[in-house]
Amino acid sequence: MTNADQPQIDSKKKRVVVLGTGWAGTSFLKNLDTTLYDVNIISPRNYFAFTPLLPSVTCGTVEARSVVEPIRNIIGKRKGDSTFWEAKCVKIDAKGKKVHCLSDQDVNSELKEFTVDYDYLVIALGAQVNTFNTPGVVENCHFLKEVEDAQKIRRSVIDCFERASLPTLSEDGKVKTLHFVIVGGGPTGVEFVAQLHDFVSEDLVKVYPDVKDLVKITLLEAGDHILNMFDKRITAFAEEKFHRDGIEVKTGSMVFEVNDEAISIKDRSSGAVSSIPYGMIVWSTGIGTRPVIMDFMHQISQTNRRVLATDEWLRVDGCDDVYAIGDCATINQRKVMEDIMEIFNKADADKSGTLTVKEFQDVIDDVCERYPQVELYLKNKRLKSIVDLLKDSKGNRERESIELDIEEFKNSLSEVDSQMKSLPATAQVAAQQGLYLARCFNRMKEAEENPEGPLRFRGTGRHRFHPFRYKHLGQFAPLGGEQTAAQLPGDWVSIGHSTQWLWYSVYASKQVSWRTRVLVISDWIRRFVFGRDSSRI
Ligand code: FAD
Repeated sequence: MTNADQPQIDSKKKRVVVLGTGWAGTSFLKNLDTTLYDVNIISPRNYFAFTPLLPSVTCGTVEARSVVEPIRNIIGKRKGDSTFWEAKCVKIDAKGKKVHCLSDQDVNSELKEFTVDYDYLVIALGAQVNTFNTPGVVENCHFLKEVEDAQKIRRSVIDCFERASLPTLSEDGKVKTLHFVIVGGGPTGVEFVAQLHDFVSEDLVKVYPDVKDLVKITLLEAGDHILNMFDKRITAFAEEKFHRDGIEVKTGSMVFEVNDEAISIKDRSSGAVSSIPYGMIVWSTGIGTRPVIMDFMHQISQTNRRVLATDEWLRVDGCDDVYAIGDCATINQRKVMEDIMEIFNKADADKSGTLTVKEFQDVIDDVCERYPQVELYLKNKRLKSIVDLLKDSKGNRERESIELDIEEFKNSLSEVDSQMKSLPATAQVAAQQGLYLARCFNRMKEAEENPEGPLRFRGTGRHRFHPFRYKHLGQFAPLGGEQTAAQLPGDWVSIGHSTQWLWYSVYASKQVSWRTRVLVISDWIRRFVFGRDSSRI
């Protein structure tokens, strides 16, 4: 399709091009007032996938079609006009304000390629699996990133059981075939292990009684613990539970090669190298950058980065009218830090080196309001003494006259700076960013017409909108056997069967449509009543 062929819904409307129909892109589209813009959506997937339920798809706890919603259904419910094209964006041309796309459809090559012009570009391309260039991984391992991956895993698990049941296979061959290895002890790897264990112990043992005792599940993790981003209590509970369930958890194990027979690992503490025969491997070690994003980062001189850097308003650094949300982007924390330093420098210049606790608190409040993530730094142990002092000052007026050395505080902040982490690559962040950006877009015209209006941020002229604020709502780690661990805001930890019910309710409520909600809940009921299906289809 050429540019001339693009439907011009309303020539006065600005064109918004959205790349990707994942968590970030869909959240943006669901909340955007599409009557205000001419919206074009480009993605090689014509559906939204509810990724947190993909581990459940691998073992048939829920069906693949229950966790996806056609994107045309989602945009069809919006009042305005939006157009979806099933294609891949292969190049972003920020100077020419256009994107180059390639369709996978079986059409002539000249019909496969097209370009789309934009006034505003929203990049929500997500990320791809990261193999860390480990030899043999791509050829021999399964990944768990897309719906197709989950479907392949489901078939492959059943394949292993059918192969092991053949009369021709030796005992050693059966043992090898029924050895399931999972690489990566993060939330996805752990949840898959839990699902697989449940599938085997609740359903497959009944249909494959001859080989049930030969099954082995091994979880390999390079770090010292699995689920290391969770509270220590959750990590310990998960490790203990897996141990009780007979799942071997090998921590400190670096995978350095995989071939079609075995996976080679190196023990990080002893340096000992060993080779483990396997029947099936699932590789779940984190995410890497998509080539199209890498190419774009080179164009805009954001080299040596893993994801696109944006400012706090989710605008890509160094580009006009280009926004990036979700796993393919991160807020440029260093720039934020420089801004914070600037506020302190200004206070320093005004007050020649010292501030009273009261004045200090005002500056902190100012900083926290602009940069809410700083509140997190302030909780950091390194700053504990200062925070304690501030807390004390509330109850003790005398302390308000204490003078603090600004330079000392700035030094503490720079120490924290080196520890600063970007927002996690989760659906929660992606969905909140999509919602935030849609709200900004919905108010953009109003803000342009009334630049000094109430939307102007603190009258500083920095931007018309408040910066993006991430609200962490907690995180789940399903551990199998109807038990889940949850780390909720305020470091509140809950583990067990009741948390599993919380997990069911949250995931049912978070479904993108009533259709998927009903399908997912009926899948859960079907599983409770009839167990999981072990047909290999
Ligand atoms: P994605 O959702 O990956 O969407 C990217 C979109 O871009 C897709 O539509 C894709 O088709 C499209 N795309 C790709 N390439 C192109 C291209 N060249 N051109 C155009 N479009 C393209 N997070 C949680 O918060 N909680 C969980 O429990 C959780 N569980 C997870 C379980 C699994 C198995 C996985 C894989 C992830 C899980 N996550 C979870 C993480 C979460 O899925 C991601 O953080 C989230 O999907 C990121 O959203 P996104 O929109 O940035 O990317």
